[in-house]
Amino acid sequence: MDFDLSKEQKDIVKAAREFAQGEFPDRAEAFDQEESFDEMLHKKAAELGFVGVFIDEAYEGPGMGMLESCLIAEEFTAVDPGIAMAILSSCFGAEVVQAFGSEEQKKTYLPPLVLGEAVMGIALTEAEAGSDLGTVSTFAARQGDDYVINGSKVLITNGSRANSLLCLAAADPENGDVNRRHSMVMVETDRDGFQARPIKGKLGARASDTAEVSFRNVSVPYSNLIGEPGRGLEAAAHHRLCNGLFAAAQAVGIARAGLEESMKHAKKRMVFNAPLSSFQAIQFFMADMYIWIQAGRNLVCEAAWRLDHGKPDEKLTGAAKCFCSQMAVQCADTALQVHGGYGYLADYKVQRLYRDAKVMEVYAGTAEMDKMIIARNLLR
Ligand SMILES: Cc1cc2nc3c(=O)[nH]c(=O)nc-3n(C[C@H](O)[C@H](O)[C@H](O)COP(=O)(O)OP(=O)(O)OC[C@H]3O[C@@H](n4cnc5c(N)ncnc54)[C@H](O)[C@@H]3O)c2cc1C
Repeated sequence: MDFDLSKEQKDIVKAAREFAQGEFPDRAEAFDQEESFDEMLHKKAAELGFVGVFIDEAYEGPGMGMLESCLIAEEFTAVDPGIAMAILSSCFGAEVVQAFGSEEQKKTYLPPLVLGEAVMGIALTEAEAGSDLGTVSTFAARQGDDYVINGSKVLITNGSRANSLLCLAAADPENGDVNRRHSMVMVETDRDGFQARPIKGKLGARASDTAEVSFRNVSVPYSNLIGEPGRGLEAAAHHRLCNGLFAAAQAVGIARAGLEESMKHAKKRMVFNAPLSSFQAIQFFMADMYIWIQAGRNLVCEAAWRLDHGKPDEKLTGAAKCFCSQMAVQCADTALQVHGGYGYLADYKVQRLYRDAKVMEVYAGTAEMDKMIIARNLLR
């Protein structure tokens, strides 16, 4: 068993770190305060090859894997979680198109994402259906060669920014098999009847767009069906598997940033005529964070490696997401504690980390859903 990254992977890590450290810090605070983002940054990241690295070469991607996606996510997020999310979420849903879409659909939707010329999103959650996607009620009615979609979705990343959204919709709501009632349909956001309302006032990840979207008699061709009819929940589960892992890598990035900020501060800050870092209680904070981060990163890397090698392990991915998201919240909390009162101020990066960390336990499947998945697999 080789725990070292390959030379290519190490180069990716180095390049991602340098890009993020060069481009993010000067803008992070303003994007956070204004809940804004500069699309040029997304474009630049794409030009340098950091976007959609899991997309196959046939569709303009580098054909790498989830492991490389996770490495980039950790590096970007360690510098700024909000900007990282804004850039890397531009491919949300692409993993579903790649796994379930037809050749024509892959050729249509994937290359513009890799090139930074388009943004995608995936719209699963509704006001009455979050953890339990089986209750999604947005309706896709077959009318001749079209689907006519009606309904609304909440909390959708890139909802008001995306060129297209993968929409989980009930296309066969009377089907006796509850797992076959939903289909995944691509909706271009310039279609008549589509509306997006950005949601402002998020606790964290504020550079990333989150919106409520609605579909009023939105007509799309039947050929926009991604995968077979009735396999929408399977496609959504695939998204949650990949995105959960991606979120786990983001969480490792947040935790690492917490440790790095804490070390910097503790070495500089004098208390009782000695550097803060000389006190064992503070040293143990650092040691704990290091232990959690190593454990979390190893979970992410193994789960990603298994996914990339055709051996996806749902419970391992759930464990990575659950452990890392909780660990990110814990590390951000510890980092703020190490900073004392200063950590509570907007001037310090740890305040933003503390706010950004919480979403990791909520989005891409909650910690409770991860535990349900783990337990279901254990007890099977
Ligand atoms: C910033 C952000 C971005 C997001 N981006 C997207 C996106 O791009 N696309 C998208 O579709 N969604 C997105 N979401 C939505 C997210 O996936 C949901 O919020 C999440 O799945 C939880 O659903 P819910 O909010 O409806 O919570 P609920 O399902 O109402 O759950 C509430 C709480 O109860 C717990 N719970 C629920 N059922 C059980 C049970 N059976 N046993 C024990 N506990 C349970 C949950 O874990 C949670 O803690 C985003 C959310 C946020 C905050």
